[in-house]
Amino acid sequence: MAEQIFPEGTLMKGKRGLVMGVANKNSIAWAIARQLAAQGAEIAFTYQGDNLLRRVKPLAQSIMPEGSDAEPILCDCDVTNDAQMEATFQTLKDEWGEIDFLVHAIAFAGKDQLAGSFVENTTRDGFKSAMDISAYSFVDAARRASHIMKDGGSMVTLTYLGSERVIPNYNVMGVAKAALEACTRYLAADLGPRGIRVNAISAGPIKTLAAAGIGSGRHMFRFNKAASALRDNTDSAGVAGAALYMLSDLGLSCTGETHHVDGGFHAIGMPAEDAMDEASGRE
Ligand code: NAP
Repeated sequence: MAEQIFPEGTLMKGKRGLVMGVANKNSIAWAIARQLAAQGAEIAFTYQGDNLLRRVKPLAQSIMPEGSDAEPILCDCDVTNDAQMEATFQTLKDEWGEIDFLVHAIAFAGKDQLAGSFVENTTRDGFKSAMDISAYSFVDAARRASHIMKDGGSMVTLTYLGSERVIPNYNVMGVAKAALEACTRYLAADLGPRGIRVNAISAGPIKTLAAAGIGSGRHMFRFNKAASALRDNTDSAGVAGAALYMLSDLGLSCTGETHHVDGGFHAIGMPAEDAMDEASGRE
């Protein structure tokens, strides 16, 4: 896999925004935050509880603008908690007055919902919480963020191919991601007249905490590597690059889009014979 490279530049200079969904240094949200910071963005983060704060705080401090002795803005925010959502966006309003971008990289489904039979294992509560945390939270965050985007803005969420096609064990999360992609289009139409762009990135599998919760992970990574057009797994640096395009002025006129960053896996109808051998470990 290519080394993660985040070239420095000024594409995000003068822009401030919120990144939701950094759990640790492997999080896709962290790859995006590093890329945005390398281009001059100022970033506030959410985290869930003191355990996560211990991990997120040093990461956030590490990308503060050079020479700044200010502390990063960090907000304790479980997206199912209305009071915490309210407090998060109020903090941004109090500290900055307005923001320019939002990154939503949050998803959850119980482990029991992410293995085996979709029809047998999907419970009412499991369905509701997957939809609430993984899809509705983007609508809620987008509404609140849009109220403090005075001069237009840009929002990005993270999705996966399991929304369009059946991926073993992805189950209810595939349904939630389909809803998330539909939400992206409706948000884009509502917020477009206010100069706010809303897009989704459909990333290929990347080794993170969230990915570890999905059954048959090893098979998924091996198969994706063998069967994608690039014959490699997805690098979070590529996802971060796409986010930079969408969140900066480079992405002007791009909205309502679900953009695949998955080594071209989505474009393959049937993997070549040698790819199938490689995926199955056959010589
Ligand atoms: P990750 O590092 O585990 O990030 C997931 C984040 O969601 C964590 O920060 C987690 O916080 C947060 N979260 C879950 N429930 C929450 C809640 N109720 N309130 C607030 N935050 C909550 O994994 P990731 O892979 O980078 O995931 C980021 C996004 O990319 C997700 O939407 C995921 O579906 C998507 N994605 C991932 C892949 C992949 O292969 N990794 C591929 C395509 C799309 P806690 O740790 O505190 O729960």
